[in-house]
Amino acid sequence: MLLAWYPEHARDLPWRHTRDPYRIWISEVMLQQTRVATVIERYTRFTEKFPSLLSLALARQEDVLALWSGLGYYKRARLLHDAARLVVAEHGGSLPQTAAELRKLPGVGAYTAPAIASIAYGEPIAVVDGNVERVLTRLQALDADGQRPTAGTLQARADELLDPESPGIFNQAMMELGATICLPRTPLCTVCPVYVYCRTRGEHTPRPRTQIVSRQASYLLWRRPFRGQTSRVAVLLVKRPESAALMPGMWELPELPEPPEQQPILRVRHAITTSNYYVSVFAGDGQIGITTPSGTERKWFPERKLTEIPLTGLARKILMRLDVMAKPREVRRGKALPGGEDQPPA
Ligand code: SF4
Repeated sequence: MLLAWYPEHARDLPWRHTRDPYRIWISEVMLQQTRVATVIERYTRFTEKFPSLLSLALARQEDVLALWSGLGYYKRARLLHDAARLVVAEHGGSLPQTAAELRKLPGVGAYTAPAIASIAYGEPIAVVDGNVERVLTRLQALDADGQRPTAGTLQARADELLDPESPGIFNQAMMELGATICLPRTPLCTVCPVYVYCRTRGEHTPRPRTQIVSRQASYLLWRRPFRGQTSRVAVLLVKRPESAALMPGMWELPELPEPPEQQPILRVRHAITTSNYYVSVFAGDGQIGITTPSGTERKWFPERKLTEIPLTGLARKILMRLDVMAKPREVRRGKALPGGEDQPPA
């Protein structure tokens, strides 16, 4: 029933037109904790720039991070790059074909390994991501005792249901069902293809909402002629320390310890995991002091080079909103930038 429903109702996504293990791997890594709408455009650009595993392995890490900008969770890009190099060095450039072997690669975990192995190679192993967990829990009332089912229970139940003849299609169908029908807050049970088998049918226990924290931050946009040439403009950026817990090694605008006494040129809301940042951006001319921790790298980048630099998502958003940096295709078409909405200056 699920296998018949999937081809009719699956969203048309670029990585569903390929069986290339490399491209499936890229899409699965990008889809971890990032919305599908955001991934579509990034996946296309990434695979245009790095069309093969070898091209990714040979790339500079700075270039990989630059293309990852906007997807967040940059550690994924570093591990992806490390894994590509390892595959070239130790596997002759071809991804391993089983989930067990794939899991030995950097950044390939309990969800990604079965997804690649089943979709690309047909290994009969079930995928349990957040969507599948929700479907299984509701389908079989696995939290009827008020307890969240363990990872072991979920994997065992998913393996029992798996169609061994079409494991890749089955896994994608389960994930699609969770993403489009068995929605977190309001499941669309009346159009659900497994309604007759479901033990809860919308009578599930809602999960408590995650507490969102609000924070304020101020950044400086300082521009000046690049190397004295009035026809070229440069922007001052600072590099986050390699030891930073979030976005190590990425470039961002200088952060101000507190807002100066002038009107901001932009106000932006930016969401990162459980925090909402209300960010004010001020124009700088050397009068506003910048204090960065000792050892922090600062550099002037010509504006036309900004798309090649690994920027934080927030820096990228600010620079595009202020037309300092070119907007990618999806934003030019009028879609929102990932991670929040902005507001005009007061
Ligand atoms: S019937 Fe409703 S609760 Fe059950 S799996 Fe389908 S959408 Fe989810």
